[in-house]
Amino acid sequence: MIKKILIVDDSPVSRAIVKKCLPRGHAFELFEAGDGLEGVARFKETRPDVTLLDLTMPVMDGFEALEEIRKADPEAVVVVLTADIQQKTVNKVMALGAATVTPKPPSAEKIEQALAQAELLLRG
Ligand SMILES: [Mg+2]
Repeated sequence: MIKKILIVDDSPVSRAIVKKCLPRGHAFELFEAGDGLEGVARFKETRPDVTLLDLTMPVMDGFEALEEIRKADPEAVVVVLTADIQQKTVNKVMALGAATVTPKPPSAEKIEQALAQAELLLRG
């Protein structure tokens, strides 16, 4: 069961949209971070079930944050949210251990699919 979700995105508007897209009727515990470095710190602090991670961010981008998060927890379930869905980018984040890639802008349906995927990984 997904209870804790960490949203890492440098755009407060994007974070708000992601929050609106989360399935209703779930009392998720939500955490947020505005760049990759903060995201890694929040991850270590809060140990979310799922991290929703943007790629293009200042200070530390999503690629590096993904690497650091997976270093901190090799089983961490990270969903990458990006407008850049070139195969090269998808391959790169999958190689870094992303659970899945969800194209931006997110929708309730896309987020639901990503969380379903995450849920499968959590159950192992
Ligand atoms: Mg960004």
